[in-house]
Amino acid sequence: MWKSADAKYFYNIDGWGDGYFDINSNGHLVVLPQRNSIGVDLMELTKSLISKGLKPPYLIRFPQILKDRIERLINAFQDAISEFNYQNVYCPVFPMKVNSRREVIQTILSAGTPWNYGLEVGSKAELAIAISLLRDQDALLICNGFKDREFIEMLLLFSKIHKNSVIVSDNLNELELILKLSKTLKVSPLIGLRLKLTSAGSGKWIASGGEASKFGMNIPSVLKAVDILDEKGKIENLKMINFHIGSQITDIKKIQGALMEATRIYTKLVKMGLNVVYLNVGGGLGIDYEGTFTTSDSSTNYDLQEYSNQIVYGIKGICKEENIKPPIIVSESGRFVTAHHSILITNFLDKRSNTPLHDLDEEEIDENTSNYILELYDGYKNIDEDNYVEYYHDAIKNREYLLASFNLGHISLEDRGLADVLYWEIARKAIKFAKIDENMSEEFRTLEKILNYTYIANFSLFQSTVDVWGNNQIFPIIPIHGLNKTPKDKGIVGDITCDSDGELKEFPRRMETARNIEFPFTNGEPSFVGITLVGAYQDSLGGNHNLFGRVTELSINVDAGGKYSIQEISEVSEVGKMVEVMKYSYSELSKNFNANVKEAQKNKAIKDSDAKKIIKKYEQFYKSSSYLED
Ligand code: PLP
Repeated sequence: MWKSADAKYFYNIDGWGDGYFDINSNGHLVVLPQRNSIGVDLMELTKSLISKGLKPPYLIRFPQILKDRIERLINAFQDAISEFNYQNVYCPVFPMKVNSRREVIQTILSAGTPWNYGLEVGSKAELAIAISLLRDQDALLICNGFKDREFIEMLLLFSKIHKNSVIVSDNLNELELILKLSKTLKVSPLIGLRLKLTSAGSGKWIASGGEASKFGMNIPSVLKAVDILDEKGKIENLKMINFHIGSQITDIKKIQGALMEATRIYTKLVKMGLNVVYLNVGGGLGIDYEGTFTTSDSSTNYDLQEYSNQIVYGIKGICKEENIKPPIIVSESGRFVTAHHSILITNFLDKRSNTPLHDLDEEEIDENTSNYILELYDGYKNIDEDNYVEYYHDAIKNREYLLASFNLGHISLEDRGLADVLYWEIARKAIKFAKIDENMSEEFRTLEKILNYTYIANFSLFQSTVDVWGNNQIFPIIPIHGLNKTPKDKGIVGDITCDSDGELKEFPRRMETARNIEFPFTNGEPSFVGITLVGAYQDSLGGNHNLFGRVTELSINVDAGGKYSIQEISEVSEVGKMVEVMKYSYSELSKNFNANVKEAQKNKAIKDSDAKKIIKKYEQFYKSSSYLED
C-alpha cells in the first residue's frame, strides 16, 4: 500500500525541499511558506483558480518564503559571528540580476529592513530601480559590472543622498573615469575593487572565477589602482574588496580556497595603510536542486550553516594571523534567497510515444508475407527470459534487412508498417526481460530511452525553466495530486514549444538523478505537476521563444491555519501582447488580415457570413492566451 509518506521519500522531497514542501493525507503537494506551520494544498489552490476562470500554467510566488530565506541567511551568519566571537558584523546584499521582479525586490527590501538589506546592481536599468526603492540609509548599494558615463554620473549623484553607495570597479580606465566624474560632480564616492582570484569555483559557473574569468583585477592591477587612488588623493575612498567565483558553487572546498586568497589580499591592503572596511564575498551559495548533498552540478556538499561558518571562521583566522581588525562581511546571495519562493504549476495535455503502440493484426501475416516479417513474427511469439538478448539482436538484423529491401522498392508500405509494430513489440518484451534479469547494459538503456513516453506539459521551457536548456540544470518536478497512489506510469516531460530542446529529462531522486519521472495518473485524467525551485534567475533569463509569454502569476500568503490569500495576480500574456513584442501592431495586422478576408469574399471563396465570423474570430484570437487553454 503506497502512502503519501512513500511519495515523499520517493521524490526525495526532504532532499531538495528545505522544509517548504510536504504531501498531505489526500496525496496533494503542500507548500509550507513558514516551514513548521500548516501549508497550502496546491491541488485545491489549482482547482479554485480554475473555478475562477484562471487557466494553468501558473507561476505561484510565496513572499513568505523569501522572508524566511532572508531570516535563515541572517541567522546563520549571526550564529557564526557569535560562535566564533567575530569582532565585526555581517551585511547582506541582494544581487538584482538573480530576480529583479518588482514583487521580489519589494518583498526583500521590506523583509530585510531590520538588517539593512542592500542591493547590488549591474546595469543601468537595475540602478534605476534600486535608487528609487532603496530608502534605508544604512543599507548598501553596490554597483558592479560595465559602466558608461551616464551610469557612473547617476550613481555618483545618488551617493550624495545615499552615503552607503559603493561603486565597484575592475578596470583601471573605468576607475580613472569614476575619479574624474566625481571631481566634476563634487562627490567623494565609496570605491570597491573586484578581485580576479587564482582560486576558481566549481560546478556549471566555474568559468566565473579563476584567472581566465571575465571580471576582476589581478594583483598588479590592484596595486596600480591603489597608486591611481593615491595620486588623486582618494586613497581613503577605497572601502571594499569584492570577489565572486561563480554561482552555485557545489564544493565547499572551493569557497574556502577563494576566501583564503581574498582575505589574505584584504589584510595585505590594510597593512599597506589602506582604510578598507568591507570584504564582499559575492554570491555562490548553492541550492541542492537534486537533494543528493554531493558536488554534482545541481547539488551542493554543504549547507547554509557550514557556508556561513566557513566564511566567518576563515576570515577571522587570517585576520588574527595578520593581526588586523576583521572586516564587515558582505555577501551577495541571490540563488539562496529566491530559488524556493516560486513554483510553476502546469497541466499535462498529452502523452506521446516515440514508437508505434498499435495492436498487432495477426491476420495480416499469411503465405505472401516476406520472410523478414515471418522471422520477426517468430521472434515476437517466442522471445522469453532465456533468449531475449539473441532474439532482440535477430530482430534488429531482420528489421535492417527489411528496411534495405523497402528502400529498393521490394516491400510494401503495409509490410513496412507491420515490421515496425513487430520490431517494437519485441523490443518492449526484451526490455521487460532485461529488467527482470538486471541486465540494463548500455544497449538496453538506450533502447529504454527510445521506448519512453513524453508527457506534454503546458509551459515553455525557454520562458519558465530556461536554465535547463542553457545549463542542463535540474529542477525538482513532482505531481501535485495522486501522491497517495502507487505511480502508474513514467516518462520525460516535453513543453509546448516547437523546439525539440524543450524537454525535461533528468529528475531528482534519493541517491542520484533519474531519467524518467513517475506519475500516479495515466493518460486522459486531468493531471497537474509542479516544477519547483524556479525563483532564481528564471524570471529574468526566461525568453519569449516561439512567442510564448509570461504565464499567469500569483503572489500568495498563507496564514497559520493554512488559509491562503492572493496578494497579487498578473494574467497570462495574450497572443496580441506577444505579437507586439515583435513590433507588430494590431492596426497593421488586422488591416492586412481583413484585406485577405475581403479578397476571398470577392473571389467567392467564402460567404459574406463566413467573412464576418472569420474577422470576429481574429479579434478574439488576438486576445487569447499565448498558452494552450484546453
Ligand atoms: N554577485 C555577483 C557579482 C554575481 O555575478 C552573482 C551571480 O552570478 C551573484 C552575486 C549572485 O550569485 P548567487 O545567485 O550564486 O548567490
